Amino acid sequence: MPQTEGALGLVDHRSLVLVINCGSSSLKFSLFSGDDSSSLLSGLAENLGQADSRLTLKENGGKTTVALDGGHEVALRTLMTILDEKNLLHSIGAVGHRIVHGGERFTASIRIDDAVLADLESVSRLAPLHNPANLLGVRVARQVLGWVPHVAVFDTAFHATMRPGAYRYAIPTEYYRDHGVRRYGFHGTSARYVAAQAVEFLGLDPDDHGLVIAHLGNGASATAVRNGQSVDTSMGLTPLEGLVMGTRSGDIDPGAIFHIARSAGLSIDDLDAMLNRRSGLLGLSGLSNDCRTLETAASEGHEGAQLALDVFVHRLARIMAGLVTSLHRLDAVVFTGGIGENSVLLRQKTVERLGLLGLTLDEQANARMFGGVSGHIGSADRKPSSLVIATNEEWMIACDTRSLSSMSIS
Ligand code: ADP
Repeated sequence: MPQTEGALGLVDHRSLVLVINCGSSSLKFSLFSGDDSSSLLSGLAENLGQADSRLTLKENGGKTTVALDGGHEVALRTLMTILDEKNLLHSIGAVGHRIVHGGERFTASIRIDDAVLADLESVSRLAPLHNPANLLGVRVARQVLGWVPHVAVFDTAFHATMRPGAYRYAIPTEYYRDHGVRRYGFHGTSARYVAAQAVEFLGLDPDDHGLVIAHLGNGASATAVRNGQSVDTSMGLTPLEGLVMGTRSGDIDPGAIFHIARSAGLSIDDLDAMLNRRSGLLGLSGLSNDCRTLETAASEGHEGAQLALDVFVHRLARIMAGLVTSLHRLDAVVFTGGIGENSVLLRQKTVERLGLLGLTLDEQANARMFGGVSGHIGSADRKPSSLVIATNEEWMIACDTRSLSSMSIS
């Protein structure tokens, strides 16, 4: 296979996979080589379309930032120029795109062509806050990197194995039939990766195991995995259902929403913004959506921060315990995502609340798990296990992209 000498060493021709996660004003990317699950380089273009728009590149432990003058297309073209200067551009063999919502049409990753793109557009109505930005990334990347295959990987796809008992809402059938209103679930790529890692780490039988995975980041959800398949998850039609999140409310009595609309005079758009952007840890604390800030403030006696963390843990433990009822056995609960991988305090409080399920906590082991370290946080020889596993959604996207593009690992 031909090789080129890039800034990062010898790179096989067309052996790299570029993973893109495009948001409304940001674009995250990672570049993977061969079977190495840590990216060669990664970065973030943020504040796109605004005056302080910039692109930050992370490589070999260092960071470089360049100012951008424009939106998503400028960001991608700038990235392409940088990759070209590093002699890496023409080693890209495929591009993988994170797409939040696949609806019922997309239940697995798929190679993108014009027909798929048209179907992706029609699914967008289910996720107006996320999918249009994801698709903008697809369109721009197909223009800029038109000579390689592009693959869509969906946050919802892993949950396509849920049964109607888990995914239907108890509302009249016409809303499901005519408008696709059902529970879909999100964070599926992370749950799929973490579940597979847990099975390997614990030496479980791939055809006989039960796990509860808690992906706790700014968005947060928990998933019950039975024999490698999602059987229930806490998010619903949108990522607003379920756990308390950074700025999202999670579960709330729908009657409370009608009451707020009537008594405070909020419109549908106001309610949408309030529940998605001003609620959760931020709304409860009145201080921040950032778990680190809240932990520090709570330890200094800030009552709002203490309340926010209490509600977070209460709901998390309740939902995780509820998910166990969809399993035939419980081998482990697994924490992942920014909070799950790093918050010693919230893991401790949650595992303590789940003691009734037989979970144990080893305080010293728990204190060692942060910054990407994975392992037991409970007694290693007692079942069920309590684990931390660092997620790697980008790597999952790269793996699906590689296999659907018929690329071989060099
Ligand atoms: P996103 O969902 O945007 O990908 P992340 O998975 O990066 O989010 O998670 C962000 C959350 O992780 C924030 O609430 C942040 O405070 C929290 N977090 C990161 N590091 C720590 C830490 N050391 N202790 C507690 N929380 C942390």
